[in-house]
Amino acid sequence: MELNDYIASIPGFPREGIIFRDITPILASPKAMRHVTRKLADFIEDQNATLVLAPEARGFLFGLPAAVEADVAFAPVRKPGKLPRTVVEETYDLEYGTDTLQIHADAIQPGDRVVIVDDLLATGGTVQAIRHMAEKCGAEVVGTAFVVELDDLKGRDRLEDVPILSLVHYE
Ligand code: IMP
Repeated sequence: MELNDYIASIPGFPREGIIFRDITPILASPKAMRHVTRKLADFIEDQNATLVLAPEARGFLFGLPAAVEADVAFAPVRKPGKLPRTVVEETYDLEYGTDTLQIHADAIQPGDRVVIVDDLLATGGTVQAIRHMAEKCGAEVVGTAFVVELDDLKGRDRLEDVPILSLVHYE
């Protein structure tokens, strides 16, 4: 399957100078969705993961089906104020300003083997923040998996020795 055919590139969104990679054509195709889910699930199984973490909102679209397919637990990573129970949180730098993410503290057990799934790896700030939260809870991040990786932004360098699966690469 040529997954590139299911990713739309939109120059100038959300602002000038950026080419936005839009994964919604994958969602529109059960065939493409099954392909992506199977690839992610194979990776999750290969890492012997016990938990998948994925950030809102596009991470959910791939992380949850892959976790179900691999038969492991899933927990959502959310913006502040959305999760009702005790949370662990991490604030990280963006190009302009900061962002904060939260996970239910009881969703991660010490010794969990975590795979983080998101639609796209850019600078790696998001996945790094999730990794820190997992580690604060005593879990180990044994893999990270993305539909798209933007190679020039070098997010991969921040992940050091953690295995990375990316299904499509762009400069
Ligand atoms: P990072 O934290 O810099 O690696 O950015 C990754 C996050 O930004 C992911 O959660 C993506 O959903 C989002 N993102 C950044 N650029 C794009 C894009 O071109 N298409 C879709 N999502 C993007």
